[in-house]
Amino acid sequence: MTRPASAFKPSSQPYWDPEVETQSRASWRAKALADLQRHLAFAYENARFYRNHFDAAHVRPGDLKSLDDLRRFPFIDKKILRDRQLAKPPFGDICATPEREIVYISASSGSTGVPTASPFTAQDFDDWIDYEARQFWSSGLRPEDRYCHSLNFSLFVGGPCVLGAQKLGALSIHAGTVPSERLLGILGQFQATAIWTTPSYAWHLGETAIKEGIDPRKDLAVKRIFVAGEPGGSIPETRQRIEDLWGASVYDYYGLSDIFGSCAGMCEEKNGLHWAEDHIYPEVLDPDTQEPVPLGQRGELVLTTLKKAARPMVRFRTGDIVSFTDAPCACGRTSLRMVGVHGRLDDMLIIKGVNLFPSDVEAIVRKDRELTGEYRLVVERVEHLDRLTVEVEHVRGYNGTAEALATRIGHHLKALTGVSAAINVLAPDTLPRATHKAKRVEDRRTGVWS
Ligand SMILES: [Zn+2]
Repeated sequence: MTRPASAFKPSSQPYWDPEVETQSRASWRAKALADLQRHLAFAYENARFYRNHFDAAHVRPGDLKSLDDLRRFPFIDKKILRDRQLAKPPFGDICATPEREIVYISASSGSTGVPTASPFTAQDFDDWIDYEARQFWSSGLRPEDRYCHSLNFSLFVGGPCVLGAQKLGALSIHAGTVPSERLLGILGQFQATAIWTTPSYAWHLGETAIKEGIDPRKDLAVKRIFVAGEPGGSIPETRQRIEDLWGASVYDYYGLSDIFGSCAGMCEEKNGLHWAEDHIYPEVLDPDTQEPVPLGQRGELVLTTLKKAARPMVRFRTGDIVSFTDAPCACGRTSLRMVGVHGRLDDMLIIKGVNLFPSDVEAIVRKDRELTGEYRLVVERVEHLDRLTVEVEHVRGYNGTAEALATRIGHHLKALTGVSAAINVLAPDTLPRATHKAKRVEDRRTGVWS
């Protein structure tokens, strides 16, 4: 009996979807306009929030005659997502499909610690996974690879990205976040050729291997490392250090819990991140005037989905400061490339890839009657891993032990945000009191932002 033909694309094929990936810039723009016109009309007709939101701004989907007209539509942001969700649980009236059609949610912690849910229809989910497969293919992953997914699976939008690797035919190892020793065991046992983790963890894992007598370059088979969640993957010095350690190529990916697990990723040229332009329309705006900046200049990334039906996102302010280029890429793909994330508009911290707002900590510290309510966050990088210390003060006359308080606060913080921190309990009036804007965060990490 002859073996059936492989269901997967030939590995020599350079593109996952050549028609999409190599279309002209004019074609990308024409398709984006048609998609935007359709998607805005869909949102207006099916999501009560958008009907009210557009009406209040005196703008209708029919007003979008060119891509430039998008600037007439009002923004949304994380706070609106959270408020609408609280007003109409569980998903909010930004949703445009009945719950019956929703098959998957991811959730992310917000500035109040209330997780916001990001819902997907079956079609949204399929679109997303097909995009992940395309992105993996562009970074050189092939059906012959053994891919180890080392991201959190618990409600985290990065989890299902593994299905993109599986879709393209790679052997997919759903490892999740396991202790380093266990992960090294998995990489060794199955001789995985690719892995996805955060850049700082990739660094840490490589050094842990060496400490255990494993040479990642010789004893392991990892040749591609996908990274996301921190800017390191687009900082050439950081990338080079990780590549040297592993003898592997590092590809930076960018994702957003409210849209896709990744919305952009590096091709094998590793010169910027190709954007998912057929699914998400990006704008880069001057943070002060909110007007578009010329291509190549830095500004706030504002995103509009083009197809996602469960919860259309129209002009979502990400708070990320980015820049794009449309210069031709040697790989032949024609999509816009994000040059990197240059910083954040707000004070959000990223600790081991998890978003943390100082206000999350404040909510906990202010709630505990045995604390003064003063606090400070100290972020350091120890052996390439982020370490957060929360300094708090016990109230006068507190009779218990510092350990008991520290354990309780640490437990609450972990439960609310998913971030582990050392809690340092100090005597009252130890922390500096600010008269103006409190400097609550001391970030001692260097070279985090390019
Ligand atoms: Zn390219």
